[in-house]
Amino acid sequence: MDPQLKVKIARKVPVSTHKFNHYFKGFEKIETVRKIFGEKTEEVLNNLKVEFAGFRGYMGVSHIDGHLLVSAVYLKDGDIVDIYLDIIHELVHVKQFMEGKELFDNTFRYTDRPSEIEAYRVTVDEARKLGLSDERICEYLKTEWMSDDDLTRLAKTLNVRCSRS
Ligand SMILES: [Zn+2]
Repeated sequence: MDPQLKVKIARKVPVSTHKFNHYFKGFEKIETVRKIFGEKTEEVLNNLKVEFAGFRGYMGVSHIDGHLLVSAVYLKDGDIVDIYLDIIHELVHVKQFMEGKELFDNTFRYTDRPSEIEAYRVTVDEARKLGLSDERICEYLKTEWMSDDDLTRLAKTLNVRCSRS
């Protein structure tokens, strides 16, 4: 302990996770999800843990053990179709993590990273299955941290037509 400090701070704290299946139901029946995990779909989703976080943001996958992280604020206030597509996107990252792939390769820009392109491709396929228009998919792809150029590049890679105003 730092002798200057007069307080005790616990350094190893438990991360509260929950069973994915308890909060997100029916994903094992979605064809796209079955394509991601194949015959292991039930097993993976049964074992998958989700951590709900109280801060703003969207979703992610823990780079320590591959569990899903979801912003409770986003879950409450976000668009339900966006949330659904984000879960599909993150499930691709869960699979990538299980395969030992590099999820956070910072030698690539976010929109060029192979792990992201793969996740976005699966997500765009699912969005099309839902009947979403290119315009709506484009809206989904756009996030505040993405520049217009990045969005254009990503949309082009994914064959999504985004009209620029
Ligand atoms: Zn991603």
